[in-house]
Amino acid sequence: MNILFVTSEAVPLVKTGGLADVSGALPAALREIGVDCRMLLPGYPVVLDKLADATEIAAFDGLPGGHQARLLAASMPEAGTPLYVVDAPALFQRPGGPYQDENGVDHVDNALRFAVFGQIAARLAMAASPLDWRPDVLHCHDWQAGLAPAWLRLAGGATPCVTTIHNLAYQGIFPPATVAELGLPPESFSIEGVEYYGNLSFLKAGLYYADRITTVSPSYAEEIQREPLGMGMQGLLTSRRADLVGILNGIDTGEWNPSSDLRLACEYSARAPAARKGCKRALQKEMGLEIAADAPLFGVIARMTHQKGIDLVLEIADGLVARGGQLAMLGTGDKTIEAAVAALAARHPGRVACLIGYDEGLSHRIEAGSDFFLMPSRFEPCGLNQMYSLRYGAIPIVHATGGLRDTVEDGVTGFVFEAPTGHELGLAMARAFDLYADARARRRMIQAGMSRDFSWEHSARAYAALYADLVAARA
Ligand code: ADP
Repeated sequence: MNILFVTSEAVPLVKTGGLADVSGALPAALREIGVDCRMLLPGYPVVLDKLADATEIAAFDGLPGGHQARLLAASMPEAGTPLYVVDAPALFQRPGGPYQDENGVDHVDNALRFAVFGQIAARLAMAASPLDWRPDVLHCHDWQAGLAPAWLRLAGGATPCVTTIHNLAYQGIFPPATVAELGLPPESFSIEGVEYYGNLSFLKAGLYYADRITTVSPSYAEEIQREPLGMGMQGLLTSRRADLVGILNGIDTGEWNPSSDLRLACEYSARAPAARKGCKRALQKEMGLEIAADAPLFGVIARMTHQKGIDLVLEIADGLVARGGQLAMLGTGDKTIEAAVAALAARHPGRVACLIGYDEGLSHRIEAGSDFFLMPSRFEPCGLNQMYSLRYGAIPIVHATGGLRDTVEDGVTGFVFEAPTGHELGLAMARAFDLYADARARRRMIQAGMSRDFSWEHSARAYAALYADLVAARA
């Protein structure tokens, strides 16, 4: 089965968010189970600079805006996934990031840039493609790839398309005049097409023209069919619910493996989790907490934004300390949240510690050294940290939303509370203190969590089944 994976970012070449992690891992996992997955990426400077072996294999003209582009073939560093790169210097060779200039302002021609990108994806799926290799399914990610299914269908192409939503907040919205500028047919600017509340939306186009829609967890697939998480797309998503499915992201189980993690003071495994004690002691020392083997230690690692519910942690923190607990926090983001976290730590020296910043190594040591991990996110399309926590034996305490609901089993592998309030988080914390006092029950919960499988192979099989379904339906 041939899959063209159309994405605007992928580690280790270019990353602004979780999409890059998925794009780095999923195609490789698909290839391991026998799916011929190849990736299409825009040729930003950071991409071309890292691909010494890229060679031209095709050229396109008559693209939106009258642009021309070359198609280069290369392979992903490390994973080796076959890679096609759209080389259009006028559109992609410029300073700044993939979507914004050096000052954090969106590139003014983003519509054109990603219209060209999407059209090349579509042309590679058409009978007239210049390549011998033809995809059986076009798998498009987020708004940047949203026009690919539209171009394909509007040109009469029949290759099945999947659109995956990683972040529904970014919808690729442009003024109505863009429709003509890009050369989209005027009749496509309608409810039955690319129109979205009077504007053009690339994401809406991707959702409307795709045969299947996926999100990165089953619960999030349900939640986005309603306000508030539907963010305006709930009507369309509800009408497409028979074609909408959530497939949980995996985690990098090589990078996140407590039995071989060189960032840790001690290595340990699900069978012998006792060595976590050494990690806890080392973490207390590293963060300036009192060295106290018996104090329940709660960890937090998050972007400090409203989404992550850090304010709820601040609400329960005094109670947590009063019961003899400790809190280790790592994150950066919103300045007012950062300041509140720093003030909390200053109020409880030795009991609450924080590091405002980004520190990969410390994030591993918090997962290994904490007894519990707090993740009261208001919403969470998938979430990674709760999966790292399960794998590292830090019992997760999570709000029942999106991927958190789908990965943590209440009372079995962690604690799940229903409403994102300080009161509910406090009740869950109280359950954690009770568990902490029962060594056998605690050990059972840690082992249940550590034995869960969140490998990419699992997700890759679900995507492969989806592709197979589409190919069979077409046949
Ligand atoms: P999101 O993608 O919404 O930020 P996730 O839980 O899906 O949330 O992923 C967050 C990732 O970023 C995890 O790998 C987490 O460990 C990491 N991370 C977030 N903040 C920090 C930080 N300050 N230092 C180190 N790692 C961080």
